[in-house]
Amino acid sequence: MADKRDYYEVLNVSRDASQDEIKKAYRNLARKYHPDVNPGDKESEAKFKEVKEAYDVLSDPVKRENYDRFGHQDEAFQGFGGFGGGFGDFGIEDIFDSFFGGGFSGRKRSQSNAPRRGADLRYDLEISLEEAVKGKDTFIKIPRTENCPRCKGTGAKEGTEPVTCSACGGSGQQQVVKNTAFGRFVSVHPCVKCGGTGSIIQEKCSRCNGEGKVFVERKIEIKIPAGVDSGSKLRVSGEGEAGTRGGPPGDLYVVIHVRPHKIFKRQDNNLICEIDLDFVYAALGAEIEVPTLDGKAKLRIPEGTQPGAVFRLKGKGVPSLRGFGKGDQLVRIKVDVPRKLNSRQKKILREFAEASGLKLVEPQEDKGFISRVKETLGGGK
Ligand SMILES: [Zn+2]
Ligand SMILES: [Zn+2]
Repeated sequence: MADKRDYYEVLNVSRDASQDEIKKAYRNLARKYHPDVNPGDKESEAKFKEVKEAYDVLSDPVKRENYDRFGHQDEAFQGFGGFGGGFGDFGIEDIFDSFFGGGFSGRKRSQSNAPRRGADLRYDLEISLEEAVKGKDTFIKIPRTENCPRCKGTGAKEGTEPVTCSACGGSGQQQVVKNTAFGRFVSVHPCVKCGGTGSIIQEKCSRCNGEGKVFVERKIEIKIPAGVDSGSKLRVSGEGEAGTRGGPPGDLYVVIHVRPHKIFKRQDNNLICEIDLDFVYAALGAEIEVPTLDGKAKLRIPEGTQPGAVFRLKGKGVPSLRGFGKGDQLVRIKVDVPRKLNSRQKKILREFAEASGLKLVEPQEDKGFISRVKETLGGGK
């Protein structure tokens, strides 16, 4: 390969150039000659190949030393697909990402050391129906990770800073180049040395042991608005898990569960209850007291009220979560028929029956009643 130009000449650097100078020279030339920048330009393409080849050798200390001692090697010694394998196997992003942190092309790869938002948290909160209807300010305790207060989340000992990883230059990624019979393959992996974070902690923070995060149980105030129901979700912004590498925290979602109430059932924004009403009240009408969530309320029962009748107490229901309007309380009537009457009550009812033209059977002792049943069934004596 006698016609090959000297690699130092190609990169326009001195023979004792540092790795940084070589890298810088390559960066400038690669930008200038990259085929994506000069589509269809054969001369640029050839120049780019030449630059890339020179850089591949001079950026590798072992290859550079060999080159300094022996000059250009016959391609046969480089193995299949060695140099001159073309550049179809690495795109412009590979070059520019590795050198400019992706800022050049704008087609930024998702970087493993980029800031990441913290996870959302869920907390299930049980409340009473009264609390759901009236709203409540309360405190809940949630276990979560937070940025370590001692190292401010860096993981480094107080007064020290994490240093940029030398293996990946802070990108958190390493390029692995494989030469195979099919060509040259470039793949990107998280940096092994820094675990993809791009920085190395030399002395660990004693509080978080270098994690940058601590686990705490945090008391958080929750304002439950009036009108919530089972399944309502309250989002508490920024109270989730801490973010990573400066990313924002996640959110906290409080999911409401309303305990069953012994009197009221909820249907949309209405509250429903059932009331036992004495049959005399049902017949003659009355003013009775019914329970509400605000204490007792008066309800007028008209005469002739039937079992199952429903009365409405306007505005005694659940306020709308949207802030306007309120549901009603619905009172369903059960008519209570007395199970035990004294002789005076019976006498009066018999008179009532007579006045109504009802036919009553003669009062019987229990024993007599049972023996009559037996006669009817054809059993007993
Ligand atoms: Zn710490
Ligand atoms: Zn690294």
